Amino acid sequence: MTVLSLILQALAGLLLADFLTGVFHWLEDRYGRESWPVLGPLVIAPNRLHHEQPLAFTRSGFLSRNWTCAVAAGLIGLPLLAVSGPSIWLAMAFVFGALANEFHFWSHCPDRAPTIAHMLRAIGLMQPRGHHARHHAAPHDRCYCVLTTWLNPLLDHIGLWSRLERLLPKRWQA
Ligand SMILES: [Zn+2]
Ligand SMILES: [Zn+2]
Repeated sequence: MTVLSLILQALAGLLLADFLTGVFHWLEDRYGRESWPVLGPLVIAPNRLHHEQPLAFTRSGFLSRNWTCAVAAGLIGLPLLAVSGPSIWLAMAFVFGALANEFHFWSHCPDRAPTIAHMLRAIGLMQPRGHHARHHAAPHDRCYCVLTTWLNPLLDHIGLWSRLERLLPKRWQA
């Protein structure tokens, strides 16, 4: 395997993870209900709280911030591993997906980000605070992806989220 192929596979994994964070975040924001069993209190309620108090989750610990993304990454990654076998892109997608909320945390608290995160931010592979702040502006309907600065401009430009919403019954919206 060449270095270029290694880099491209790692990039593909990161972008896949970024896209999936956007999809799940959009579903949580637009269709999630706090009244749902299990997912309501564990996922939807903290997500709503984050819109109202963006810094509340920064006061929790590493495990508390990341366990839901780690579980989701496992639930998606393990079937993919069984189908496609081990690969660099899948490993990167799993790692970045499992740590997506930590990257999100570093967007809110850049002074607490490690050196590697600052290096990734310099090339757009991690969001600076200003980029993620676009999602926090009401009505929270853009910039759903939380990892890179690469996908959000494209997905918002083509109106992916509003197009998907037109395909789904309006009564499903939260
Ligand atoms: Zn949101
Ligand atoms: Zn945020």
